[in-house]
Amino acid sequence: MTDCLFCKIASGGIPSKQAYSDERVYAFHDIAPKAPTHILVVPRQHIAKLSEAQREDEGLIGELVGRAAAIARELGLDHYRLVLNNGEEAGQSVFHLHFHLMGGRTFKWPPG
Ligand code: AMP
Repeated sequence: MTDCLFCKIASGGIPSKQAYSDERVYAFHDIAPKAPTHILVVPRQHIAKLSEAQREDEGLIGELVGRAAAIARELGLDHYRLVLNNGEEAGQSVFHLHFHLMGGRTFKWPPG
């Protein structure tokens, strides 16, 4: 989608600090980190939010989760949080599906 921030980041149109890249998945460091490690894992395909994903997107969503786990492993993170905000009231501000991989500190439960 032409007007989407994360589509532009994934295609290199807007600069980012890359953490991982392949033909389906892009990961980059959050511009306003909420933890010592805060990486966003996004599909190159535009999906606005999880609740709009289709059955055929399930493999891709699984890949995002697996990639987040692989990045965490490579960074030596044993304890981390993987978050997906779906919808404005859940905290979603960028409407391109993404997982937040956060680590390097202690997290509280429940989140605010
Ligand atoms: P969410 O609120 O779940 O939609 O998460 C969006 C995340 O994108 C926030 O944590 C922002 O700090 C992050 N963000 C916004 N713009 C950029 C950018 N240009 N580069 C990296 N991260 C960004």
